[in-house]
Amino acid sequence: MEPKVLRNYIGGEWVASKAPEARDVVNPATAEVLARVPMSTAREAADAVEAAHEAFWAWRCTPPITRARYMFRLKALMEENFEKIAELNTMENGKTIDESRGEVRRAIENVDVACGIPSLMMGYNAEDVAEGIDSFALRQPLGVFVHLAPFNFPAMVPYWFIPYALATGNTFVLKPSSQTPMTQNFLARLLEETELPEGVFNLVNGSTEVAEALMAHPKVKGVTFVGSTPVGKHVYAFSAQHGKRAIVQGGAKNFLVVMPDADMPRTVSAILTSAFGCAGQRCLAGSVILAVGKAYDDLVPPLVEAASRLKVGYGLDQATQMGPVVSAAAKKKVVGYIDLGVSEGARLLLDGRNIVVPGYEKGAFVGPTIFDRVTPDMTIAKDEIFGPVLGITQVDSLEQCYDIIAASPFGNAASVFTSSGKVAREFAYRVECGNIGINIGIAAPIAFFPFGGMKDSFFGVLHGQGQDAIRFFTDEKVVLTRWF
Ligand code: NAD
Repeated sequence: MEPKVLRNYIGGEWVASKAPEARDVVNPATAEVLARVPMSTAREAADAVEAAHEAFWAWRCTPPITRARYMFRLKALMEENFEKIAELNTMENGKTIDESRGEVRRAIENVDVACGIPSLMMGYNAEDVAEGIDSFALRQPLGVFVHLAPFNFPAMVPYWFIPYALATGNTFVLKPSSQTPMTQNFLARLLEETELPEGVFNLVNGSTEVAEALMAHPKVKGVTFVGSTPVGKHVYAFSAQHGKRAIVQGGAKNFLVVMPDADMPRTVSAILTSAFGCAGQRCLAGSVILAVGKAYDDLVPPLVEAASRLKVGYGLDQATQMGPVVSAAAKKKVVGYIDLGVSEGARLLLDGRNIVVPGYEKGAFVGPTIFDRVTPDMTIAKDEIFGPVLGITQVDSLEQCYDIIAASPFGNAASVFTSSGKVAREFAYRVECGNIGINIGIAAPIAFFPFGGMKDSFFGVLHGQGQDAIRFFTDEKVVLTRWF
């Protein structure tokens, strides 16, 4: 049977794209083609913006409490379809089913927060700002917003934005990742089931042509992007050039500092999930350990041993602890970095290059890989590898860790493992990264906090999730009143 070609959702209709090109959506564990995704045209992107623009005024005039009721319905539908969403997510992305369940829960939590929009988007007022004059500030929606999604969290990342944009009264066009579009295509069906008015939410499949057409469209008010830093830099500049507000969350290289006084068994287990969870394809994945002094001797042997025991396989198999990377191309890139690490002189303690998973010989698997003697000047210590590859650098002092972290152009996340409150406080105080973990390997902010990011990991002012998202999707208007 021919794989199904995904449709676009525009103005409340599922429409076939007229684009001549479509790409395969491949299950990275089985190499099976799950669907085909059209590379929709600029014209189709413009149709979606027009539909969203058309729907805006009536939606904006809908009371926030009524808009929140759609979010309650969406939450109920997501709970009802929880396993189905998680399964699709695993099939197209590769991560384990438990990782997908965690991801879907995080997506739902953003809907939970948006359910509170009537109080969350309130303004404020003051009496007698001058004699007989009162003033109040309102938060108002702006119009059409766009999201360009990455491949690595197909269910969750678009939900750092969609629930907030809709609940505050904006309308939306989503462009899912062309590598992992199926989960969002399914979630769009759930949004449709909430009976949102036509055009409030739209989805256009595709890649750069669609993304640029959306960002350049004069009726689009703002752009939200999550993806790699080079594309993010382009998106931020392009958005500014076209007069849009933007949230641009980029790539990462995250350091995990281990102090000699850390609780080693717990640290090993936290590092294991940080580095190898989601096959290292998390923007919060720990990728270089900075082991201070004797922490090195206590940490490295149990870590290598535990990593070597991780069960790599198909994510839908409940026993699997680590799935494949997203594609054969991603595997090639990650293996290329491992080769490079060897030629740069790092010592390979665990080599995941030649792994074969019985029954899934065509899968894009890379086993857990650990390098020792990684120095800060090596490419593997600097580039975002985005695979299950962990480097270890032994250092003498915490001060050296601060210098190494400060020298990285990225500022997404950093963690310290210690039993000293003083060290923990100083680390959170000094390190220029947007998400800090204290004895936590994946410092992922929960929905009612902004998802941080600094330096080359973030471009903009406000972040996704929580109050930041509400502020981004609204504009403040100040009204002064005098009555005679
Ligand atoms: P990517 O940059 O390749 O693609 C992201 C999106 O941008 C996709 O929808 C893609 O189609 C679109 N795109 C590609 N080229 C474009 C162009 N020239 N103009 C406009 N849009 C374009 O990222 P990816 O490989 O899908 O995702 C992985 C990256 O995302 C990693 O670098 C990871 O660190 C990052 N990420 C960051 C965060 C965060 O919060 N900082 C979260 C998740 C992922």
